Amino acid sequence: MKLLKSIALVALTSVAMGSTAFANSFNANELSQIIEQARELKAQGKLSVVLFDLDDTLVSTQERSLRILKEFASQAEIQNAFPDSLKLFSLKETDINYELALTFRKIGIENAELLKAASAFWAQRFFTSTYCSKDKALSGSADYLHQLIEAGAKVVYLTGRDAPGMELGTRANLVRNHFPHHPSQALLMMKPDKSIDDLVFKTQAFSQVAEMGEVIGVFENEPANLNAMTKAFPKAKAVFVDTIHSPKPDRPVEGTIWIKNYQSKPTNQRQMCSGIF
Ligand SMILES: [Mg+2]
Repeated sequence: MKLLKSIALVALTSVAMGSTAFANSFNANELSQIIEQARELKAQGKLSVVLFDLDDTLVSTQERSLRILKEFASQAEIQNAFPDSLKLFSLKETDINYELALTFRKIGIENAELLKAASAFWAQRFFTSTYCSKDKALSGSADYLHQLIEAGAKVVYLTGRDAPGMELGTRANLVRNHFPHHPSQALLMMKPDKSIDDLVFKTQAFSQVAEMGEVIGVFENEPANLNAMTKAFPKAKAVFVDTIHSPKPDRPVEGTIWIKNYQSKPTNQRQMCSGIF
């Protein structure tokens, strides 16, 4: 009876959220196992590679968006034209959705003109070195990266950011967050042109990554990108970083490890819905 009640509760919650509940096993030890594997390969004289996306995998774009929106709301002319904009000061990092319209709705802003003005302000800043250079690291990420390096792995940052617009800020941010950045330890791969689709760019980079050594771990917050990595590197442990992601309907394939950050506590069930988990 108790079990039936639990099942019913999960089903109800799923319907309420417009999502499908599904179980995932999470084991923090699995992250340590990637370090252990790097160590073993090093002992055999082999090179190992661990692949990481940047945005919402190692650093928080929720924090970047929050910074931009508060700057937007700080303008006197915006406050005068849209008194509702003051509500933006109540936003918290975790309120930031992948889609700005949903972020606004969460704090009770239903104003198309204000949304349009904020979207334009956000778009001019979000994909720039100036703003990404101040990104905050996900909890425990720098430590984890350094443990991998120490174990003999090479870290590859494979990001959908474009080099012309964001390389300077990205490199400055690696230093600021104490992430490995020396060429002997880590490689940064960025899109040569902003117009290239992220997944197309990443998929095309896989053969170059494969030449660097044995890929033993892949980390992503976008399920579609992660699944492409899993397909390209079936022996690697796939880690889904459960932060925010696009509204694409893809789900991480079975066997994927789920984390919230690099100090996550184990959990055995998550909800997934469009745009945010
Ligand atoms: Mg990302």
